[in-house]
Amino acid sequence: MAILHVAKAHWPKDLASHLKYVYVDSGAMYRAVTYYLLEHNIAFKEGYELENALTQINIRQTVTSDGLQTTWLNEDIVEEAIRSMGVSSRVSEVAALSSVRHKLVEEQRKMGVNKGIVMDGRDIGTVVFPDAELKIFLTASENVRVERRLLELMDKGINATYDEIKSNLRQRDHIDSTRKDSPLTKAADARLLDNSDLSREGQLKIVLYWVQEL
Ligand code: C5P
Repeated sequence: MAILHVAKAHWPKDLASHLKYVYVDSGAMYRAVTYYLLEHNIAFKEGYELENALTQINIRQTVTSDGLQTTWLNEDIVEEAIRSMGVSSRVSEVAALSSVRHKLVEEQRKMGVNKGIVMDGRDIGTVVFPDAELKIFLTASENVRVERRLLELMDKGINATYDEIKSNLRQRDHIDSTRKDSPLTKAADARLLDNSDLSREGQLKIVLYWVQEL
């Protein structure tokens, strides 16, 4: 099962826990690579330096006993650091690099080998799992997306303004949709879910209905 989205939502996690599936936030993986490259002053360009850095990066995602998603980069928890505006403003450049995509897509496919997975991210239905049982392309109005991201950051104690987030969303959507390797696009067989006006429970209800139809 795969989910491709442009509008962060809670229901993929709710769905995974309902089905007792593993939940994977693939965006966090691109963010973690970006964080590593920034921390180590490694240029965002193909070549030996990047290839070598990628061999040093080990990303894991775990869930705490109270259900909180945690992203690990090697031995460190980076869940908050990877949501910073510093990372958000550069992540799409890193995600456009083919060697980065190659490494992460390979890891994502391994995670899905035994099925039982809900993965969200911008190329999941088109590239990572083209044969997924259910594909959902999630979208929402820009205002709703910005407000959700603002709340997510506030929750993590990160300061950002509405305008900063709006311009970052626009910039990332543009770079992600126009990149050569795996551009953000809706898979032809994906269902469209606009969750601008739907509650968390309402979204889960619709998606569970789709799951039952399979
Ligand atoms: O999901 P999130 O908004 O955290 O993703 C951050 C960035 O990671 C996206 O803007 C995109 O550049 C990249 N990404 C990607 N492919 C994915 C998931 C995320 O290119 N499957």
